[in-house]
Amino acid sequence: MAITGEHNSKVPRPAEIDLPDELLRKYNRPGPRYTSYPPAPAWSDGFTRDDLEQAFAQAEGANSDVSLYIHLPFCESLCLFCACNVVIRKDHSAAGGYLSTLRREIRSLTSFISRDRPVVQLHWGGGTPTYLDPGQMEDLFADLSLAFRFADDAELGVEIDPRVTTPEHLAVLRRLGFNRLSLGIQDFQPKVQETVHRVQPYEMTRDIIREARRLGFPSLNVDLICGLPYQTAETFSDTVERIVELAPDRIALFSYAHVPWLKKQQGSFATFLPPDHEKFRIFRTALSRFLAAGYMYIGMDHFARPEDELAHAQRNRTLHRNFQGYSTRGGADLYGLGMSAIGRVGTAYAQNFRDLPRYEEAVAQNGYATMRGYRLTEDDKVRGTVISRLLCHAVVKKAEIGQEFGIDFDRYFAPELDGLKDLEQDALVRTSAEEIAITDRGRVFMRNVAMVFDSYLPKLSGDRPRFSQTL
Ligand code: SF4
Repeated sequence: MAITGEHNSKVPRPAEIDLPDELLRKYNRPGPRYTSYPPAPAWSDGFTRDDLEQAFAQAEGANSDVSLYIHLPFCESLCLFCACNVVIRKDHSAAGGYLSTLRREIRSLTSFISRDRPVVQLHWGGGTPTYLDPGQMEDLFADLSLAFRFADDAELGVEIDPRVTTPEHLAVLRRLGFNRLSLGIQDFQPKVQETVHRVQPYEMTRDIIREARRLGFPSLNVDLICGLPYQTAETFSDTVERIVELAPDRIALFSYAHVPWLKKQQGSFATFLPPDHEKFRIFRTALSRFLAAGYMYIGMDHFARPEDELAHAQRNRTLHRNFQGYSTRGGADLYGLGMSAIGRVGTAYAQNFRDLPRYEEAVAQNGYATMRGYRLTEDDKVRGTVISRLLCHAVVKKAEIGQEFGIDFDRYFAPELDGLKDLEQDALVRTSAEEIAITDRGRVFMRNVAMVFDSYLPKLSGDRPRFSQTL
């Protein structure tokens, strides 16, 4: 089955991407998701205010576009599979104080960013952004609009939990200009929902989608998870059929990340998780159905309608990867605001404190709350670009990388090319004098191909687990 763009009109034949159990066992191992390179565990706690200010100054000099990520961490209850940085509060009284802290952080950031630099992308993530009431959302947006200049065609996205989102929330978001909604669904099966403590009937999701369409939101994305407790390929295909009927513009089909050493609550259902071969069948069933319904497989875990800009970007090889996954707005500096938020500014990464008291205290004292960060070396830039091209385009043109970084690709990456031989024998990649290409079969294990180019992995694979499995 060809799972790249041009061939999607064919009815897929899932047997062609069958992976024998021994290959699943061989390649299903811990690995980063590469929303950054190097991965966050390699960043340093010794990243100083000077490092941060240098990165900001460098970005001002480059005068590139601006992308903003705002982390809104509150949720009313904990979904047991969740690996996000969340604060569980049934009572909404903490939100007001958090918004005041955010306001202070925004003010402090504006002293570094010229208003000449347009904001081309804004994303409210969480947690649950619609935990805020509609008035609080309006206030936050007003603060941002005062502080920054938004481009006319800016992408304004927000994550929606249908369980706490009202028609008033949607109306306000639309009036503010939000044009991209991302709905958390995961799985419609009641038994799965009850086990992971996220009960969200199909009708509730359907009604929110209908209302969003009525209000004219141009783009709807849904998030699903494969590999949750009690899922089987058969039960998940029912969820997949309903999603096809709801016809979102984009679908994210995340692989469940089982990291009980980080998120203890995940241990409660560990014995009910589907085995590897079943998780692969679940993924393959969904992949096959989404392709048959006309979606393009963007890579790793994303699908989009052929007319969606994500699909265009993949065809034109302008797709990028950032902390929210795949993005069409490459080249913009990303400023992260709020508890645990991550940014990439110039050639540096920076992350805020991941717990609420320390985040609030740091902003109150300094106006910023950087916990750790990282300044990229030249080698990081080369490797990061190779990894990004593999994950976004499934191909790396050696001459392009050579020209961009002034290196002889084959010489620079001689050990890595050697390391690819095993994957080539298993038909996951194809290498030639010109390029490295991931095969259709290999797209299931794209992260493993990228890992060959990661020079930090040996140092990070120490005594304690850090990453989820690649399948
Ligand atoms: S609502 Fe979203 S962020 Fe909050 S606990 Fe559930 S999955 Fe995590």
